[in-house]
Amino acid sequence: MADARPLVFADLDDTLFQTRRKMNGDDTHRQAAVAANGDPRKSSFMTAQQSALFNWLNTTTELIPVTARSGDAFSRVDLPFQSWAIISNGAIILQPDGTAHEPWSDKMHAHLAPLDAQMQDILDVGRAMADQAGIDVRSWIVEEEAMRTYVVFKLNVVTPESLNALENLHIPLHLENWTRHFNAETLALIPPGSGKTAATEYLHQHLNDDNARPTMGFGDSLSDLHYMRITDILMIPTRSQIAGTL
Ligand SMILES: [Mg+2]
Repeated sequence: MADARPLVFADLDDTLFQTRRKMNGDDTHRQAAVAANGDPRKSSFMTAQQSALFNWLNTTTELIPVTARSGDAFSRVDLPFQSWAIISNGAIILQPDGTAHEPWSDKMHAHLAPLDAQMQDILDVGRAMADQAGIDVRSWIVEEEAMRTYVVFKLNVVTPESLNALENLHIPLHLENWTRHFNAETLALIPPGSGKTAATEYLHQHLNDDNARPTMGFGDSLSDLHYMRITDILMIPTRSQIAGTL
């Protein structure tokens, strides 16, 4: 019989868990992800409710994480996902056995390689502009499996002024079709045809080609709405960038 379980695409950071800094009080019920350097201040936690939500989704639906986390950062998430996963902002799709889905990797390699020079320009121009505007950022091109995937600028010092300055950093390089993700201290520029949305469309087609399964999209960032809209029902944390704009 065909799989009729709901198909759930869920962002991770600030949707299913968050760093302690973003939590009210001490309800760090369960550690969900370890920081790269093991620093508990940068590790991520779930509240009791988030933990119960995760358990409910993971046992009753086909739950698919959709995350900007790299393979390395995703491997530090300590949650027993059982199905496919979309990582690296969509550049990689992991199969249920944890290996990369080659047809998607091949497609992304072919798609992203010609955009390499443009990504470098965005990085160079963005860096120069941030410098000129006095915004203290670190910036790089995220690389995964020898693929350069998207450009990221991250604030070193988070203040209302620096957040406002980064939000208003518009790089004049014809990026109309690029996905612009700005949330908390991060600005990411993701090439058209890649990203969480392209990977979600692909996997949705792959797992629900007759559209018989109910689908839900969970996310907190305005940029998540693009892939969430592929699903039937949007699920948004009350404390989130999306909810804050409603
Ligand atoms: Mg998020």
